Amino acid sequence: TVENKIVPLVASIDVGTTSTRVILFNKKGLEIAKHQIEYSTSASLDKASEGRRNSNRDSSPDAPLFSAEGVAIEANQYLEIEDLDNEGRIDPTLRFPKPGWVECNPLNILANVVQCFTACLVSVATVNKEREENGFDPYKVVCIGVANMRETTIVWSKKTGLPVYKYGIVWNDVRTLDLVTERKKNTPEEKQAYFRAKSGVPIFSTYFSCSKLRWLLDNDEKVKEAYESGDLMFGTVDSWLIYHLTKQKTHVTDVSNASRTGFMNLSSLQYDDELLEYWGVDKNKIILPKIVSSSEYYGDFSVPTNTKSRLTAYAWDLLKEFVSREPAVPIQGCLGDQSASLVGQMAFKPGSAKCTYGTGCFMLYNTGPKKLLSKHGALTTLGYWFPHLDEKEHAEPHFALEGSVAVAGSVVQWLRDNLRLVSRAEDVGPLAVRVPNTGGVVFVPAFSGLFAPYWDPSARGTILGLSQYTTASHIARAALEGVCFQARAILKAMSSDARHEGKKDKHFKNEVKDNTYEQSVLSSLSVDGGMSKSDEVMQIQANILGPCVKVKRSKIAESTAFGAAIAAAMAYENPSDRPLWKNFKDIKENVLYGGRPKEDAFKDPATAQKIFLSNSTTEDRRQGWTRW
Ligand code: ADP
Repeated sequence: TVENKIVPLVASIDVGTTSTRVILFNKKGLEIAKHQIEYSTSASLDKASEGRRNSNRDSSPDAPLFSAEGVAIEANQYLEIEDLDNEGRIDPTLRFPKPGWVECNPLNILANVVQCFTACLVSVATVNKEREENGFDPYKVVCIGVANMRETTIVWSKKTGLPVYKYGIVWNDVRTLDLVTERKKNTPEEKQAYFRAKSGVPIFSTYFSCSKLRWLLDNDEKVKEAYESGDLMFGTVDSWLIYHLTKQKTHVTDVSNASRTGFMNLSSLQYDDELLEYWGVDKNKIILPKIVSSSEYYGDFSVPTNTKSRLTAYAWDLLKEFVSREPAVPIQGCLGDQSASLVGQMAFKPGSAKCTYGTGCFMLYNTGPKKLLSKHGALTTLGYWFPHLDEKEHAEPHFALEGSVAVAGSVVQWLRDNLRLVSRAEDVGPLAVRVPNTGGVVFVPAFSGLFAPYWDPSARGTILGLSQYTTASHIARAALEGVCFQARAILKAMSSDARHEGKKDKHFKNEVKDNTYEQSVLSSLSVDGGMSKSDEVMQIQANILGPCVKVKRSKIAESTAFGAAIAAAMAYENPSDRPLWKNFKDIKENVLYGGRPKEDAFKDPATAQKIFLSNSTTEDRRQGWTRW
């Protein structure tokens, strides 16, 4: 028989802090199918149930793509009955039960992933029908990669597969503040530095998984019991998903995710006994995920049957057909979201950097196979590890310096939802550039402490310098500048580290003579993420970074998802088996130079003026932002 030809696609599952999406990419890096579900919150559920009361229609607030009928009746282990109130509302996916607490519902996230995935299969089935009629080869998903929010801590039962503490503690949750403050106080400074050098991260921060797991073991009876009886499984979101999407066969985490737990030794890339012991975690009692590379076979894709009630019969059949395919479709890429966008931005060269402006803002600076310890408050993190790449240097684990700003897009949400200055996130940029400066207002959006390079978990947000003259525009502008100035502080810290290193390391030969910040080792910053969609915000960022750093926005909007796709596509041991790209060069040729414009660049005032003059109304101009 003649073997059918296919057009290979790689599927990327991207679980963010505010939404989950699945995207199918082709060889050119184009999105052939995509589906995204924004997480429900108590507020969005209230709004939805109000809508339902008004319209008298029975639609699920969690917005499943397909009919939600049966959600209440067919409640199964993934939809616990008590999560449904009289209105048939499900427990929100993201909740804020106390000030400073942020929790996610792992079962909802899993169901969202399955829904998004199936939605993409539905699109492909539809498109394939047309392609077939017109004589084109059909699309076929050949492998799957996962990108996920990091640090978020989930504990579940080996026996049931269900969360033991019902929620995941999300990375920006600050409930462990007292715990880490106390421990820091009782730990000698040399010891703190020693732990920092071992793990790459300041473990006495609320940010990493280690203190979150300790909190769970200290505060939840059920967690304690499961731990004592050897039934407790721990993992970040990647482990939770891969475990359930491989029929509970594979319990792994990749090095980039593991480096964010605070338990991994950056030299051995394995759990560190001393670190585990420091947090009182006995690895004989708890089931830790095995630490693996970012790009290797983890298991075959399967779906938890319990998610069936979230899908129509047609969608479920498609999914079943997909799962029973021969050969099975492997999950073989895994990266923490920031590592994924470093890869997706194709910042493979040591010395290249990217900044993602999502809920928080994350800057990663690729230092290659060399592990650099920051003297200026940045952390050392595992960038990615693609062991099957041929070129020796690429096959090694790559490290990165990382700096994060805890609050970026979330200050935009705050302006929108709490202050109601704007009705949509995308209105913030235009509002802010109505004024040429903040009129003396300074806004430090440190809602959950300050991360790099300050590391002050007790800091809180501040607005200073208000006067009778202050308008909404000044506040909006000050909020955006507050984010951009923090990004600048991180870049400055990293530049100092790299500059220092430049004396010894060939990767940092752009040595800078004097100490001025403007002469950064970095000449350009690749940006992505929701907030980077705003020309205004990016121009403000470019202005704040000064004339020597160009801000470049890649045309691949979904670089996080794309990074996970690359990880999956590179996992075949033999390059000739790789259906999409053979190596990094191949990706660059196909994706970047595939006839599309490469990027948007924000640099000097002249560029900015052009953008705003072309986008603005006469009224805007009259209001005057003359700075540009
Ligand atoms: P995450 O991956 O963390 O879920 P995204 O990358 O999807 O986040 O970015 C979402 C964030 O970006 C939201 O906090 C939103 O307020 C902000 N955002 C989205 N579009 C814009 C815009 N045009 N201008 C400013 N902020 C925006």
